[in-house]
Amino acid sequence: MAEREMMQLSVAQLLREPVGARRSFRFQGPMEEGTAQGEAGLLRTKEGVLVSAHVTSDIRSVCTRCLSDYVQRVATAFEEEFFPVIDIETGKPVVSARKEGDGFTIDEHHILDLTEVVRQYTLLAIPMNGLCKADCKGLCPRCGANWNERECACSKEDVHPAWEELRRLWALPGER
Ligand SMILES: [Zn+2]
Ligand SMILES: [Zn+2]
Repeated sequence: MAEREMMQLSVAQLLREPVGARRSFRFQGPMEEGTAQGEAGLLRTKEGVLVSAHVTSDIRSVCTRCLSDYVQRVATAFEEEFFPVIDIETGKPVVSARKEGDGFTIDEHHILDLTEVVRQYTLLAIPMNGLCKADCKGLCPRCGANWNERECACSKEDVHPAWEELRRLWALPGER
């Protein structure tokens, strides 16, 4: 398996091979939201290249409970077909029945770029209620102290009635 420290690779050789030809490689690269790495298998198809990948990303996140910044590990997998815009044999633009924006493309230099597909799948895989750690203690509703870092002087019984009301509304039925 080839080691690559990037998200793009040339598939010129693979495109010249018969349907069913395979490659695999590791990729790694920066994203707007963090970094991604993984393994991809490439399969030459009739029209292009089918990419099957496992991705592990480290995403800059904000804890939904204590609001501090942390790096969240997000794992995902996808299978997507990439289609060349240029015919490798003739050098002419590929005429296809596929609609514009349908699937991913291999550019005119026969470069398959994983950046966008990895980013799309990673963003979809980020949990909505991510926590900096499973047992994050959260913030004091009264003084805003981060209970992960310190205890505060507010008694937990002495929470303002309005907060107590909110807490009851948010609590699961069994917790009330
Ligand atoms: Zn937290
Ligand atoms: Zn407090």
